Amino acid sequence: MASKKTKVVDGYTAIRAAQEAARHGRGDPLRPDPETSKPKSTSDPRAGSRIGRSVMPTKREVICPECDATSSIVGKVDLWVCTHCRHRMKLQDLKIPEGDWQDEVEVGGTVTILPGAKLKGGKITANDIILQGSMEGVEIRACHKLTILAGAKPDWVRLKMMDLELGPGVNITPGKPIEARHLLLHGKFSGNAVLKGMLTIHADGDFSGQLKAAGLQVEEGGGFRAQLDVKPENAPPPPKPKARAPAKPNPKLRPPPPKNQNPPRPKSK
Ligand SMILES: [Zn+2]
Repeated sequence: MASKKTKVVDGYTAIRAAQEAARHGRGDPLRPDPETSKPKSTSDPRAGSRIGRSVMPTKREVICPECDATSSIVGKVDLWVCTHCRHRMKLQDLKIPEGDWQDEVEVGGTVTILPGAKLKGGKITANDIILQGSMEGVEIRACHKLTILAGAKPDWVRLKMMDLELGPGVNITPGKPIEARHLLLHGKFSGNAVLKGMLTIHADGDFSGQLKAAGLQVEEGGGFRAQLDVKPENAPPPPKPKARAPAKPNPKLRPPPPKNQNPPRPKSK
């Protein structure tokens, strides 16, 4: 019976072999142990390969680089105009290839900085940014999410983002407090994080250092050693709901409260 263990190389093949054997009325020399060879080995490899082929979302959130307003975009939109401040930008995606690069770009899509890309200067503003190359003087602002993948060399002084995600295998010690909304870890983070939202440590993630956040989630398997200040009150107060239909129509039009000083709207744009 010891041979059974060594045969469990591939449960799927084993099952197929057994089915073949059964169909031919033979015995079951390779009879898979139903306990060990069923669903796991047949489904896992496929599940892994499926992850890479994700479909483009039909709906996405675009955050305005000028006024921080969030809007939902459904379907294909090329030129986006902010309904709040009339700021315009293209919603395209961009890839920055290997080699030296210096430019100024602003898009509402995703900018992917490929491995080997050296960003020597300029500025990148995008809704989502995936960093695999090195920052060597460039300013980067991810209005929504910045994803740092293995091999990237981020420059924390010149980085701004709303959400930050570290990919598998990343090991980062920023050397300065990181401010963000959510922090999502597949890789390793050592340092000080100040979050308006949540820290999520996935099964392959690890956090060590100091954490101030409004929420915390650690998946089984995730590593976590930290000095903590986690409470919902660390979240910023929700924006005051804009009264769409006031309870009482107010004949005296009050000026809006000076909650945020909107920059004057450009006259012609
Ligand atoms: Zn805007």
